[in-house]
Amino acid sequence: MLAHRQPGIDDRPPMPFLFERSWKLPAALVAGWLVGGVVGWFAGGHVATGVALVAIAEIVLLLTQIRHQAQHMMTQSSTVTSLQHDRFMTRSRRIASSLRDLRSAAGSLPDAVVLLDTEQHVRWFNHAAEDLLGLRRPQDRGAHLDERLSTTELAGWLKEGAREPLNDVAAPGHPNRHINVTLLPFGRRQRLLLARDISHLTRLEQIRRDFVANVSHELRTPLTVIHGYLELIDPEDVPELAPVLSEMRAQSKRMGQIVEDLLTLSRLETQEHVQDERVQMTPLLATIRKEAEALSQGRHQITVESTADADLLGSVKDLHSAFSNLVSNAVRYTPTGGRITVRWRRTPEGAVYSVTDTGYGIPATHLARLTERFYRVSSSRSRESGGTGLGLSIVKHVLNLHQARLDIQSEPGQGSTFSCWFSRERLLTPGGADPD
Ligand code: ADP
Repeated sequence: MLAHRQPGIDDRPPMPFLFERSWKLPAALVAGWLVGGVVGWFAGGHVATGVALVAIAEIVLLLTQIRHQAQHMMTQSSTVTSLQHDRFMTRSRRIASSLRDLRSAAGSLPDAVVLLDTEQHVRWFNHAAEDLLGLRRPQDRGAHLDERLSTTELAGWLKEGAREPLNDVAAPGHPNRHINVTLLPFGRRQRLLLARDISHLTRLEQIRRDFVANVSHELRTPLTVIHGYLELIDPEDVPELAPVLSEMRAQSKRMGQIVEDLLTLSRLETQEHVQDERVQMTPLLATIRKEAEALSQGRHQITVESTADADLLGSVKDLHSAFSNLVSNAVRYTPTGGRITVRWRRTPEGAVYSVTDTGYGIPATHLARLTERFYRVSSSRSRESGGTGLGLSIVKHVLNLHQARLDIQSEPGQGSTFSCWFSRERLLTPGGADPD
């Protein structure tokens, strides 16, 4: 159809369009995915997630472009020339083809992607979402997602607002697979649900845990035998070997301690809950004081202040181990003449157990990594003082099992404070009824 030619109107510049050349649009889309992939990778290895987000943003952008172009054509319909019409049709076809590509790219992403409207109704989902989340086409389009997933852990998380990512949960579509799920705000109060299959990572983690536990277990018996024989030899019988014997005993003791700590860590890692019992803080603090004094051998001034008037709900054995680890560190990393203060006090949220020393302190750059296994600020200082490099890792795991957190404040040359923060739910009145 040829439009009427009106003088001056056809000479106006056509409505500016994002990409005038046919190769520019696909090139820009692909460049967008690359950027999304790189950003996703830097944001924690989420390449597919980055690409998915960019792809969906591109779909919205292209649809907006088509709408604006169409609106422009409608308002100018009386003055549209066949040339403008043809151009519009060519661009529309190109955009439609790019949209198809984008949909099929997003559709075949390995991560599950679900587009939700403002009411959490499912608008679109990819193949991985069918597989991992158990969504079905076409019946689940328009379904309310938390009703659709009502029997799973995901529904509760969605109902509570899904503010934090949900890590390591069973996939609704495959109960023996594990997923990490994130809900991202998107467009006009829409949401994008992303789920990543982490089963292979969980499996690798399990293999690593089993390996460490098995090796530690296998080493335990030969070490006990070696240690036993070394104890049987009297250095006075072989005076020329006395220094060697003493070193061998110290090293075999150290190896034994590493094995015991590794076994403790393996047990804590596989445990999901602690056996809750009353942890009486008054006798526990008295034991910790005795242990600290025995280790310090009078080299430090040790004070225990207990004002909380509260017992704890948790595992006596594990909390004892965590609390005495902190005191043992304070003794080992504080030079002779220093002060060590153990406090058990109330806070508005619950109570805190803290150990303050006037020791070497820790530079700020190390603080975030201190609870990693075998992470040491000074390896020689740790070894000389009999450390295994596993103490704080054990402390962190014990606190996690008690929904408590570890806070570390330290100033090099001034000293450190390690605090274990417990919530009110973990506190018991001394002398009150015991937990069931
Ligand atoms: P280690 O057996 O080596 O003491 P930990 O896991 O208990 O292992 O502690 C990790 C590292 O943190 C230690 O090697 C030490 O460098 C540092 N550290 C722990 N507690 C203190 C402390 N109270 N003062 C100074 N440094 C500490």
